[in-house]
Amino acid sequence: MSFVWTLAEQHAGRLKEVSFELLSRGRTLADKLDTKLASLVIGDEVDDEQLQELVWRGADEVYSIQDPRLASFVCETYSNLLSHLVKTYQPSVILAAATSTGRTLMPHVAVRVHAGLTADCTELDIEEGTGNLLQTRPAIGGNIMATIKTPDHRPQMATVRPKSSRPLPQDRSRVGKVIAVPLDDWLVDERVVAKGYRSDVQDFVNLEEAEVVVAGGRGMKRAEHFGLLRALAEEFGGAVGATRDAVDRGWIGYPHQVGLSGKTISPRLYVGAGISGAIQHLAGIKTSETIVSINSDPDASLHKVADFGIVGDLFQVLEELRRRLAETSPGEQGTAGRDAGSEK
Ligand SMILES: Cc1cc2nc3c(=O)[nH]c(=O)nc-3n(C[C@H](O)[C@H](O)[C@H](O)COP(=O)(O)OP(=O)(O)OC[C@H]3O[C@@H](n4cnc5c(N)ncnc54)[C@H](O)[C@@H]3O)c2cc1C
Repeated sequence: MSFVWTLAEQHAGRLKEVSFELLSRGRTLADKLDTKLASLVIGDEVDDEQLQELVWRGADEVYSIQDPRLASFVCETYSNLLSHLVKTYQPSVILAAATSTGRTLMPHVAVRVHAGLTADCTELDIEEGTGNLLQTRPAIGGNIMATIKTPDHRPQMATVRPKSSRPLPQDRSRVGKVIAVPLDDWLVDERVVAKGYRSDVQDFVNLEEAEVVVAGGRGMKRAEHFGLLRALAEEFGGAVGATRDAVDRGWIGYPHQVGLSGKTISPRLYVGAGISGAIQHLAGIKTSETIVSINSDPDASLHKVADFGIVGDLFQVLEELRRRLAETSPGEQGTAGRDAGSEK
């Protein structure tokens, strides 16, 4: 019997990256509890190679429940199934991603199995002596970190923000069991049928997956100036992010918002222009590999956490950055030459 579970997520038979991020969290907890870690895959047509990858990334056991009726997320059916598995196997910890699926499914299951649930955790640990799960998340507008535990109820359930941890590297020498669990018909809620998804977000942006994010804040001054960031992001093959202040002013859509009430990102390079570095914004960028801050105020908080701080007027700095990038990009030599010429 496994005691720490993570809930893998899939779309159209492909496991999402967050499934592996959860395993790295789960592995630490299972090791501290000296117990097994299992990953649950609920879906359809997730192939053996992907199931095996869950073992290579930390799982001791993989429970694979696959059926065409599970291809799309239907809360009632997924909840029937997960609640049934919880009652049967009695895990002590279940982690899911704080995605729309995790945020919908976990409360539904928590109510049915009479368990507590802590949403949007940023840190997880095991309390020495009791073995209770310590679930830490920002509270009171991100000004404090609250640690929550549920000593009297099991399982202890938590959702974890995507990109708040990195997957473990693949270890192909790891050995684990992949167990196919049949779907009992009575668990399928026939009243609800998924007909597929339609994205209603016009301003779609895959910020969480981007390797480079160029973000702007109130210092950008106008919506049109975000064009400078788009151009720079394009040079990098990256995406544009923003602070809440910029989003609230209508300069850019909410899907671009980074931070406590927006997205958590973990790019290889984050460039923040005209961003002061409020704690709520920093909460969304702290796992970025390299942080560059562009701000005219030498005391801006973002400079303090940045690997490179550029003190100066962002409009000049962005233009210069773009010019230099164009110079170093082989395909753009001609354009760079023309730009340089027209400046003189
Ligand atoms: C509950 C709660 C949740 C929140 N969630 C989020 C969130 O998810 N994400 C988020 O970002 N914020 C969030 N906030 C808001 C946050 O507290 C800050 O208000 C916000 O991040 C500030 O945005 P900013 O850096 O764009 O603006 P400011 O703090 O006003 O900073 C603008 C910066 O631009 C610089 N600047 C101005 N002109 C130039 C120039 N020409 N060249 C260079 N630099 C220049 C200034 O020096 C300044 O540092 C939240 C707040 C609360 C209370």
